[in-house]
Amino acid sequence: MNITMVGSGYVGLVSGACLADFGHRVVCVDSNRDRIDALKAGQIPIFEPELGALVAENVRQDRLSFVAELEAAVAEADAVFIAVGTPSRRGDGFADLSYVYQAARSIARAMTGFTVVVTKSTVPVGTGDEVERIIREIRPDADFAVVSNPEFLREGAAISDFKRPDRIVVGTEDPRAEAVMREVYRPLYLNQAPILVTSRRTAELTKYAANAFLAAKITFINEIADLCEQVGADVQQVARGMGLDNRIGGKFLHAGPGYGGSCFPKDTLALVKTAQDAGTPLRLVETVVAVNDQRKRGMARKVIRACGGVRGKTIAVLGLTFKPNTDDMRDAPSLAIVAGLQDAGAQVRAYDPEGMEQARPLLPGVDFAQDPYACAEGADALVIVTEWNAFRALDLARLHATMRAPILVDLRNVYRPEEARLHGFAYTSIGRAEAP
Ligand code: NAD
Repeated sequence: MNITMVGSGYVGLVSGACLADFGHRVVCVDSNRDRIDALKAGQIPIFEPELGALVAENVRQDRLSFVAELEAAVAEADAVFIAVGTPSRRGDGFADLSYVYQAARSIARAMTGFTVVVTKSTVPVGTGDEVERIIREIRPDADFAVVSNPEFLREGAAISDFKRPDRIVVGTEDPRAEAVMREVYRPLYLNQAPILVTSRRTAELTKYAANAFLAAKITFINEIADLCEQVGADVQQVARGMGLDNRIGGKFLHAGPGYGGSCFPKDTLALVKTAQDAGTPLRLVETVVAVNDQRKRGMARKVIRACGGVRGKTIAVLGLTFKPNTDDMRDAPSLAIVAGLQDAGAQVRAYDPEGMEQARPLLPGVDFAQDPYACAEGADALVIVTEWNAFRALDLARLHATMRAPILVDLRNVYRPEEARLHGFAYTSIGRAEAP
């Protein structure tokens, strides 16, 4: 099939490369010319494990190409995917759909023959109807169908998630469009990935419901962690005891500094707005949003408490991205934590294996170090914010020797309390009772 991917960011580029790898001919489009120039020059503008090799191989096989102008690619396409950003709108938190509608208008002008327009971006329920209306208005003559096909991949594991999804959700009531979508995903279907065909609105809402549920699960264990600290229980063991129940499952039960990233914060907020507009407020999700917002800032207070105040002190922060294996800094908890520490008078020094370039403009006043040990040198406390593998087996004796004060605040529970204390650290973590 001929597929055009409009938007070549984390989702568009990964989806485009994977669909090309399935054997389709894929053209990735992006309005950001620098991004397209980089891709044409063989550079990958984002950090995602294995993406470079996958892109290179499919370019070499002539199945994957990159263009800045979508006209020719859309004219030839059987399916055009919209994978542009849908950030929170300033002011009210509703999803900003301007990029989606802009893409729809461009696609409308360029398409020829029966074309399936697929919304892969996460969009509020009813957006597909509006995309259809926009295209119909511009091209009353056109033969097309608008399908919702939300993406569930996770950054950091995006390629395996795309190639081995738990399910594929396709929202359409048009049999021709359904046939095209089944053909697009046929290689996965052979792998027995379930394809769930629903109405368009159902598919759109499924994505938000799934993300809100996961955000609620994280927030639930985070609050249990706070309770554990007060009553002398261990959240790691509580989570394990809960997660072994198949009805609950162990994933997304890791207590930490609060969820962040490019999806959960904006998607929970957008769902809250949609539900309020529909007259059926989702109180549970509203609370999740509020609890999580407060939590991130609360983590700075936790560090400040562990240090007995931070004014004039140097705090070393390990990990800035919202999770490991990505360079994505969007809504990362580190942003609120670092700001909280700076507000309290700390000088912050930070290190992240992949995120420092994106972090730099977002974190004014922060010094950046070249490795974890340089980051910790002379510091009054070390704070682990993101659980990169590189931070899982640090030489604690070396750290202890290089720091001014041996205070370790582990917001991801990477270390065992006994281990850290054995090395002479005053150790604070999440949801584990302090040392007697
Ligand atoms: P991104 O910001 O990384 O990429 C979006 C790209 O679209 C940018 O490169 C931008 O230049 C381009 N773009 C914007 N308008 C365009 C236009 N009119 N024509 C061509 N290109 C255009 O965003 P992302 O993280 O890939 O997210 C895209 C969508 O997928 C969002 O709706 C997001 O919620 C959803 N999603 C993201 C993830 C994730 O992990 N990042 C997972 C699932 C779903």
